[in-house]
Amino acid sequence: MLVEKMKNPILSHISSLLCIKCSSNEWKVDAEGLVCKSCGHLYPIMDNGKMVTADYFIQEQNWETVSDGFDLFKGNEKPITVDKLGGPRIKDLRKNLGITGIAINLGSGQDNYDGFINMDLGVYNPVHVIADLKKIPLIDSSVELVVSNSVLEHIYDYNAVFDEVFRILKKGGYFYLCVPNACLRHHKYDYHRWTTPGLHKLFDARFEITDSGACRGIAYALIIYVEALLAYKIKNKNMLTISRWLWRLISRPLFWMREETNEEYQAMSQTIYVLGKKL
Ligand SMILES: [Zn+2]
Repeated sequence: MLVEKMKNPILSHISSLLCIKCSSNEWKVDAEGLVCKSCGHLYPIMDNGKMVTADYFIQEQNWETVSDGFDLFKGNEKPITVDKLGGPRIKDLRKNLGITGIAINLGSGQDNYDGFINMDLGVYNPVHVIADLKKIPLIDSSVELVVSNSVLEHIYDYNAVFDEVFRILKKGGYFYLCVPNACLRHHKYDYHRWTTPGLHKLFDARFEITDSGACRGIAYALIIYVEALLAYKIKNKNMLTISRWLWRLISRPLFWMREETNEEYQAMSQTIYVLGKKL
């Protein structure tokens, strides 16, 4: 096998890989990729090192272009945002939770955090394993941490993904889930929104919730709603530019607000999160 192909971090956890065709976890490595010893199905590893387990996957390099022209900002630049997030940082989660085993970034897109195996239905640059998130190619109780950052709203049958996360997590393993609450529709494939009680209900029976709050707060929600409305209403390009800059000036104090965690603040926030520990 090519050296590039061997760099895929999933190859260090080969006994945790599940054949989604026959549920075996015994593998042969050959020049093309991994072959299930039980049913003979080949899971190719491409020359760029990505392993393919899904029958169908997104070929485009950028998730944004998959949106097929759906754009509330009509080609104008996107609103300015500030780097101010509530709750845990994904890049610190492994260390802070003491994770030494497998950590998966589910629906990783263009994101790449140290120590995570990136799984996605698209061939985006940092992705290691191309998979249907409703059929995760990992055996039961093999994973210590799953993160999913603004992904579930793009999957119509998200309960199936939630079931898969529960299945692959070890008892005591963690699931960090961030989803939109008061958020504009932002993609051609954008199906769902959650409230804090709705999100807690998803976790309640199967996880102990150890943390919950807002990721992107009220400022994000307000700024993007007003900017989208301006782009929608104002047809004159110069007027639009002036209006947007005025709004950016007026809205500045919103960015100075302290991020809070209570339910009222969450109710007005753009995205909310839950960190749960599998019971
Ligand atoms: Zn098989």
